[in-house]
Amino acid sequence: MSDLEKKSEELMERAREVATELVAPRAADIDAQGDIPPDLVEVFAEEGFLSVMLPEQYSGMNGSITCLCTVVEEIARVCGSSSLLILSHAVGTMPIVVGGNIGQKRRYYESLSREAKLMGIALTEPDAGSDAASLRTKATLQGDYYMLNGRKCFITNGGIADFYSLFATTDPQQRMEGITAFVVEKDTEGFSIGKKENKMGMRGSSTTELILENAKVPKGNLLGFEGRGWRIAMRTLNMSRPAIGAQAVGIAQGALDCTLDFARERIRFERPFTRHQGIQFMIADMDTQIEAARALVYKTASMLDEGVKGIGVEKFSSMAKYFASDVAMKVTIEAVQIMEEHGLTRASPVERMMRDAKVTQIYEGTNQVQRLVLAHTIL
Ligand SMILES: Cc1cc2nc3c(=O)[nH]c(=O)nc-3n(C[C@H](O)[C@H](O)[C@H](O)COP(=O)(O)OP(=O)(O)OC[C@H]3O[C@@H](n4cnc5c(N)ncnc54)[C@H](O)[C@@H]3O)c2cc1C
Repeated sequence: MSDLEKKSEELMERAREVATELVAPRAADIDAQGDIPPDLVEVFAEEGFLSVMLPEQYSGMNGSITCLCTVVEEIARVCGSSSLLILSHAVGTMPIVVGGNIGQKRRYYESLSREAKLMGIALTEPDAGSDAASLRTKATLQGDYYMLNGRKCFITNGGIADFYSLFATTDPQQRMEGITAFVVEKDTEGFSIGKKENKMGMRGSSTTELILENAKVPKGNLLGFEGRGWRIAMRTLNMSRPAIGAQAVGIAQGALDCTLDFARERIRFERPFTRHQGIQFMIADMDTQIEAARALVYKTASMLDEGVKGIGVEKFSSMAKYFASDVAMKVTIEAVQIMEEHGLTRASPVERMMRDAKVTQIYEGTNQVQRLVLAHTIL
């Protein structure tokens, strides 16, 4: 077993332990209060869950997507919002990993690992979601700075992140060829946080607008070169989609675990629920769907870790994201159905899991968009 494999196994065991002992008891409160307690974020940093994307010399896992999926799945099994903080931080780091120069990598890796800084990713705008190439946040070079003007919306870790990988355009006429990636630091002059969304699911995760009004971003924070941003964004999404799949698998597994505990105890018609064939069939279907989604997610993650590039991996990345998130939705709905009134109340984790599952079908490219990408790769 290689050093990295050994570390990855340890990481999984730690993630499961942290999830069970420290996150699960607080998950309902995180959902109700609408934020992740800072001491829990510190635990995630200490355990290395926030440095998976970094090289080993910065206590990372060399950007292993398999390790990222493992951590995200284990935490999502008990708390979708906490897993989303870890996931969006990793996705925010990816543009630096794929597009940063040596100096930028050294500077940000140092800061992320030593000072436990948090990241977010900002692509979506009010008029550019699925059609991200239509983004309108404008970057204009003035001396040593780019002046950024525009508005981002639905940004995860908004207001709590220290740095955002943010996509703007240096030339809107050029659509994709004009898109340019920057690292925007939270204290940047002209940068502020807008409204916080009051969401149905993932309520513990902060989702906000980002406002850029002559935001003064140093030239040195540009990733790659002008017009390189689209490629950086697409490579990032390829890497991040299986991690959304892993999050969905975790949520579905968590819902199945709760259902099994309930069904073993519940007596109806003088027998435990687990002895009724109708319930057994539902449970068999739920488990099969989860295992199929998990297989797809980790197959994609290992392809990415092995360096497979191009259309072959794009196809799996989209499949893993939409299949797993559709499974999470189906399984959590079935969990609520089996647990009936117990599944419907705020006292039950499956009620929260059903709300959280919905979001996984939407972000990182909606499931309709994943099907479009997939059809494009097939046809
Ligand atoms: C909780 C949450 C967190 C998020 N976090 C982030 C983040 O951190 N960073 C970030 O940049 N973004 C983030 N997003 C934004 C997310 O990625 C977008 O919401 C998503 O890409 C969809 O964009 P849109 O909302 O503009 O929908 P639209 O693009 O307007 O789409 C609306 C509907 O039409 C469908 N549709 C659109 N085009 C087509 C088509 N050609 N064919 C068929 N159907 C189509 C879509 O599937 C969708 O159902 C987040 C969103 C949510 C809900």
